[in-house]
Amino acid sequence: MSVVGFDVGNQSCFIAVAKGGGIETIDNEYSDRRTPSYVSFGEKQRYLGVSARNQERTNVKNTVSQFKRLIGKKFSDPDIQHELQSRMVPYNIVEQPDGKVGIKVQCLGQESVFNPEQVMAMLLTYLKTTAENAISTKVADCVISVPCYYTDQQRRAMLDAAYIASLNCLRLMNDTTAVALAYGIYKQDLPEENAKSRNVAFVDFGHSSLQTSIAAFNKGKLKILTTASDSSLGGRDFDTKLVEHFCKDFQTRYKINVKENKKAYLRLEAECDKLKKVMSSNSVEIPMAIDNYVDDKDVVGRMKRETFEAMCSQLLIRVENCLKQLLENSGLKKEDIDAVEIVGGSTRIPAVKSYIRKVFGKETSTTLNTDEAVARGCSLQCAMLSPAFRVRDFNVQDVTPYPIKLTWDSVGGEDSGAMDVCENGHAFPFLKQLTFYRKEAFDLSAFYTRENSQAVIGRFSVKNVTPTKDGESSKIKVKIRMDIHGIFYVSKAQMIEKMPSDDESVNEPMETQAAAEAENTDSNIADAQNGVKDGAQGEDQSDAKKEDAQQPMDTDEASNDAASGTNNTDQGEPMSENNPEPAANEGEKQGTPKKQDTPKKQEEPKSAKKKKPTTKTVDLKVEHFVSSLSQPELNKVVERENELISRDRQENDRIHAINALEEYVLQTRSKLSAEYEKFVTDEERGSFVKKLDDAEEWLYDEGEDQIKSVYQGKLESLKKIGDPICLRFNEAQTRPQALESLGHE
Ligand code: ATP
Ligand code: MG
Repeated sequence: MSVVGFDVGNQSCFIAVAKGGGIETIDNEYSDRRTPSYVSFGEKQRYLGVSARNQERTNVKNTVSQFKRLIGKKFSDPDIQHELQSRMVPYNIVEQPDGKVGIKVQCLGQESVFNPEQVMAMLLTYLKTTAENAISTKVADCVISVPCYYTDQQRRAMLDAAYIASLNCLRLMNDTTAVALAYGIYKQDLPEENAKSRNVAFVDFGHSSLQTSIAAFNKGKLKILTTASDSSLGGRDFDTKLVEHFCKDFQTRYKINVKENKKAYLRLEAECDKLKKVMSSNSVEIPMAIDNYVDDKDVVGRMKRETFEAMCSQLLIRVENCLKQLLENSGLKKEDIDAVEIVGGSTRIPAVKSYIRKVFGKETSTTLNTDEAVARGCSLQCAMLSPAFRVRDFNVQDVTPYPIKLTWDSVGGEDSGAMDVCENGHAFPFLKQLTFYRKEAFDLSAFYTRENSQAVIGRFSVKNVTPTKDGESSKIKVKIRMDIHGIFYVSKAQMIEKMPSDDESVNEPMETQAAAEAENTDSNIADAQNGVKDGAQGEDQSDAKKEDAQQPMDTDEASNDAASGTNNTDQGEPMSENNPEPAANEGEKQGTPKKQDTPKKQEEPKSAKKKKPTTKTVDLKVEHFVSSLSQPELNKVVERENELISRDRQENDRIHAINALEEYVLQTRSKLSAEYEKFVTDEERGSFVKKLDDAEEWLYDEGEDQIKSVYQGKLESLKKIGDPICLRFNEAQTRPQALESLGHE
């Protein structure tokens, strides 16, 4: 069984696999570990990774990059609008009828609009195939990195993309958490469990965003204390400063309006990226030259690191602010930070490093591979989650990026209400249990409490609620969960029905079983806030109170247990419980491992053995109205993806057939006047060479666009002539007499 980690970056991706005793970062088909995050749509096929990036200048409008920033967002999202206004996006971003972002391209000669999830799935499929080719094993289980600031919608979209790519994502892992894991798991000298933790700050500064976190390490565990990020600050913003400078410069000196010309803009961007990198390792003035630029003009420019840093001062201040925010969020002083690990391409900018040093008051360290650390951390996590691997127990606890609020409307005379599910930086995964009293179906709405129009997480409709036999409100237990991916949902709702009882003193009913099953509950939070009718519920009410006393609110413990994310079953609940139980309307599409869907067997409390239960627990249907694609939508896009895969395969086979014919023509023709010379008569050779010449001419003319079998047929007919010659030659190599039979000396 394969164990793979994918670091899906805004600019490039890395793949790591767990093999034998270690982790290996693997090469793509171009023998490069870095795979560009590009998808290009051609007339006859799609291109992915390196070959897609190579299309950027020749097929500008249909070459899609930087789509990691588009996934899981509405077109009206301020980030999308900002992206459209502030950057030269070479391809067409449109609003879809449902308000989501659409990517409009010409795909195989037809205008098509793809969801960012679909485009991401195309890239993931390519990464998956790359991994499969490298390890000669099918890949399904994987861990995929996401930025720590990704919202519920973005995470769901990423899981949908994994589903479309037939990947079984065991965890969406925050970039900096993956780095922390890759850092911590090999450290032999971590403080003992109860000793003062080692606090390490992690900075991942990539192409389009800056992510930072502080992790507390002890033997066998890491706990993310806090995160801070600037989701719209990355290496590309430094490039843009240079691009803006040279746009003005070229306008003045060469009268070239770069911004009018997308190709010219892209080319300048690429040159500025190179220039920036050279400046990172040189403080002298660096020249930049672009030959045959616009109107065939050759252009030159120059830049010194000092000037560049001055141009980027505002960006550097944002780096500093983010780091300060991180320290402030953690409540730690810089002296409390034992080390600062930096990863991501943009940490190579000297000025960035010096700002990091300044804020933390210490040297930065690069214990880990700057580019590969995220992928390696993901594959380690995948190995930990995979039953096929045995990995040293290492507990990974992450934190939520935004506070979540839950609200419910007033229905059937019951009060409306709201509660804070978690604050910013709350540990996850978590599970909480709430208690409601309702006579009819009701809705729970979850949202991030941020000043953002995209803050809604989803609505969860609890169905089939009925009043008690006495016409009173029924007691409803609702479990809310943030799973290992950082996705929030209502995982279960149950109605507690009172049973007619012969013995009213019995109070060890099935409800206690439910309580026992409900790992760690925060039911008292809900009772305090959801308008429980004091005293109105008689026995049920007292049951609830008893249960609260038995299951005190213990958020930390809940998080710890659920967060283990390892095979470490003695530290918390087994892994199988960290993933969504299939809800009534989701089930298969969550992209979570099937093996983890097995419900936990309930143990019958011994004391209740012979007693007749006084309550009955009825599972209620919960409908989820969330941003994930629905199962029919997923089926549709999977079908479309399979269609495209088969078209790509057809085209690849066709190209192979063309190449095979071309290669045969070239090789045979040259052999006919070399090693085959003695094995053909002049006449035979003359007529065969003519046929080969004709075939070559045909290939570049009307034969350019034929189906595979036409090329194969042509090759066969040429081989019919060539094979006997080849045979005579081969025989001559083993039997020199064959030469004589042809009358040659
Ligand atoms: P993200 O993490 O934002 O999704 P990513 O993972 O694709 O993006 P990285 O590969 O970590 O990004 O970093 C790419 C960025 O690092 C690019 O902007 C690139 O120009 C920049 N970069 C790489 N090497 C250097 C260097 N030597 N000096 C300056 N910048 C560099
Ligand atoms: Mg990255």
